[in-house]
Amino acid sequence: MRDVIVAANWKMHTTPREAGALAVVIARRTVAEGVVRVICPPFVCLAAVRDALADADPAVAVGAQNVHHELTGAYTGEVSAPMLEGLATWVIVGHSERRRDAGETDEIIGRKLGRAFDAGLRPILCVGEQLADREAGREAAVVREQLAGALAEHAPDRLTRERLVIAYEPVWAIGTGRNASGADATTMVNVIRQALLDRGVRDADDVPVLYGGSVTSANIGEFLTEPAIDGALVGGASLKPDEMAGIVARAGMTAAARGLA
Ligand code: PEP
Repeated sequence: MRDVIVAANWKMHTTPREAGALAVVIARRTVAEGVVRVICPPFVCLAAVRDALADADPAVAVGAQNVHHELTGAYTGEVSAPMLEGLATWVIVGHSERRRDAGETDEIIGRKLGRAFDAGLRPILCVGEQLADREAGREAAVVREQLAGALAEHAPDRLTRERLVIAYEPVWAIGTGRNASGADATTMVNVIRQALLDRGVRDADDVPVLYGGSVTSANIGEFLTEPAIDGALVGGASLKPDEMAGIVARAGMTAAARGLA
């Protein structure tokens, strides 16, 4: 049975001091058996969050929001996968904000994925279409292209062995307060699993696929009643303990229904 996962993407919010305190509050308010919880703070807050969670609740994993595609070199301001050793066990790869702001291509994202695998980091690979793509009926084609580009250099069996997680995040739903419907998200999650199968990933059914895009405690149920969807990548609401408490509590119901709790 696939993991039920709630991953918090704090983006460029919190100082190290604030991050440690917030992580403790969220950890204490999100105890739900069978739910995998991940907090992804800014790089400079990783150590503070790691230390805070080591005391408060070591079951909450720490993730980075990005990783560089090279191991070392003249890349001012960047962070490589080996540098995350001891700081993070998960990493977000290919977030649409990095595709938009840092010009990350599917090829670069694929290399980042490889660095994550090599370093033993569990990656959350983000894919999703722009509004114009959806309006043109191209959402499935775009997501298939993103997967083909990012996964081209990776052996299919490695993806499941390294426990790849995919997040379907329609770009028009991120930070906009406008979420996809559960039914539309399911359609796209099915597109993603079919694309994995087409690439030779025989265990595509075992790959957790999350929904991301304006998830809140009020709408999480719409996604988690869909059996194809395995959790959420949460941005804005993940900075609010009340919201996280509601989201993870709902995820706990799904975990229990799947026999994970
Ligand atoms: C995200 O950052 O991945 C995200 C989905 O953000 P938000 O929940 O704010 O839309």
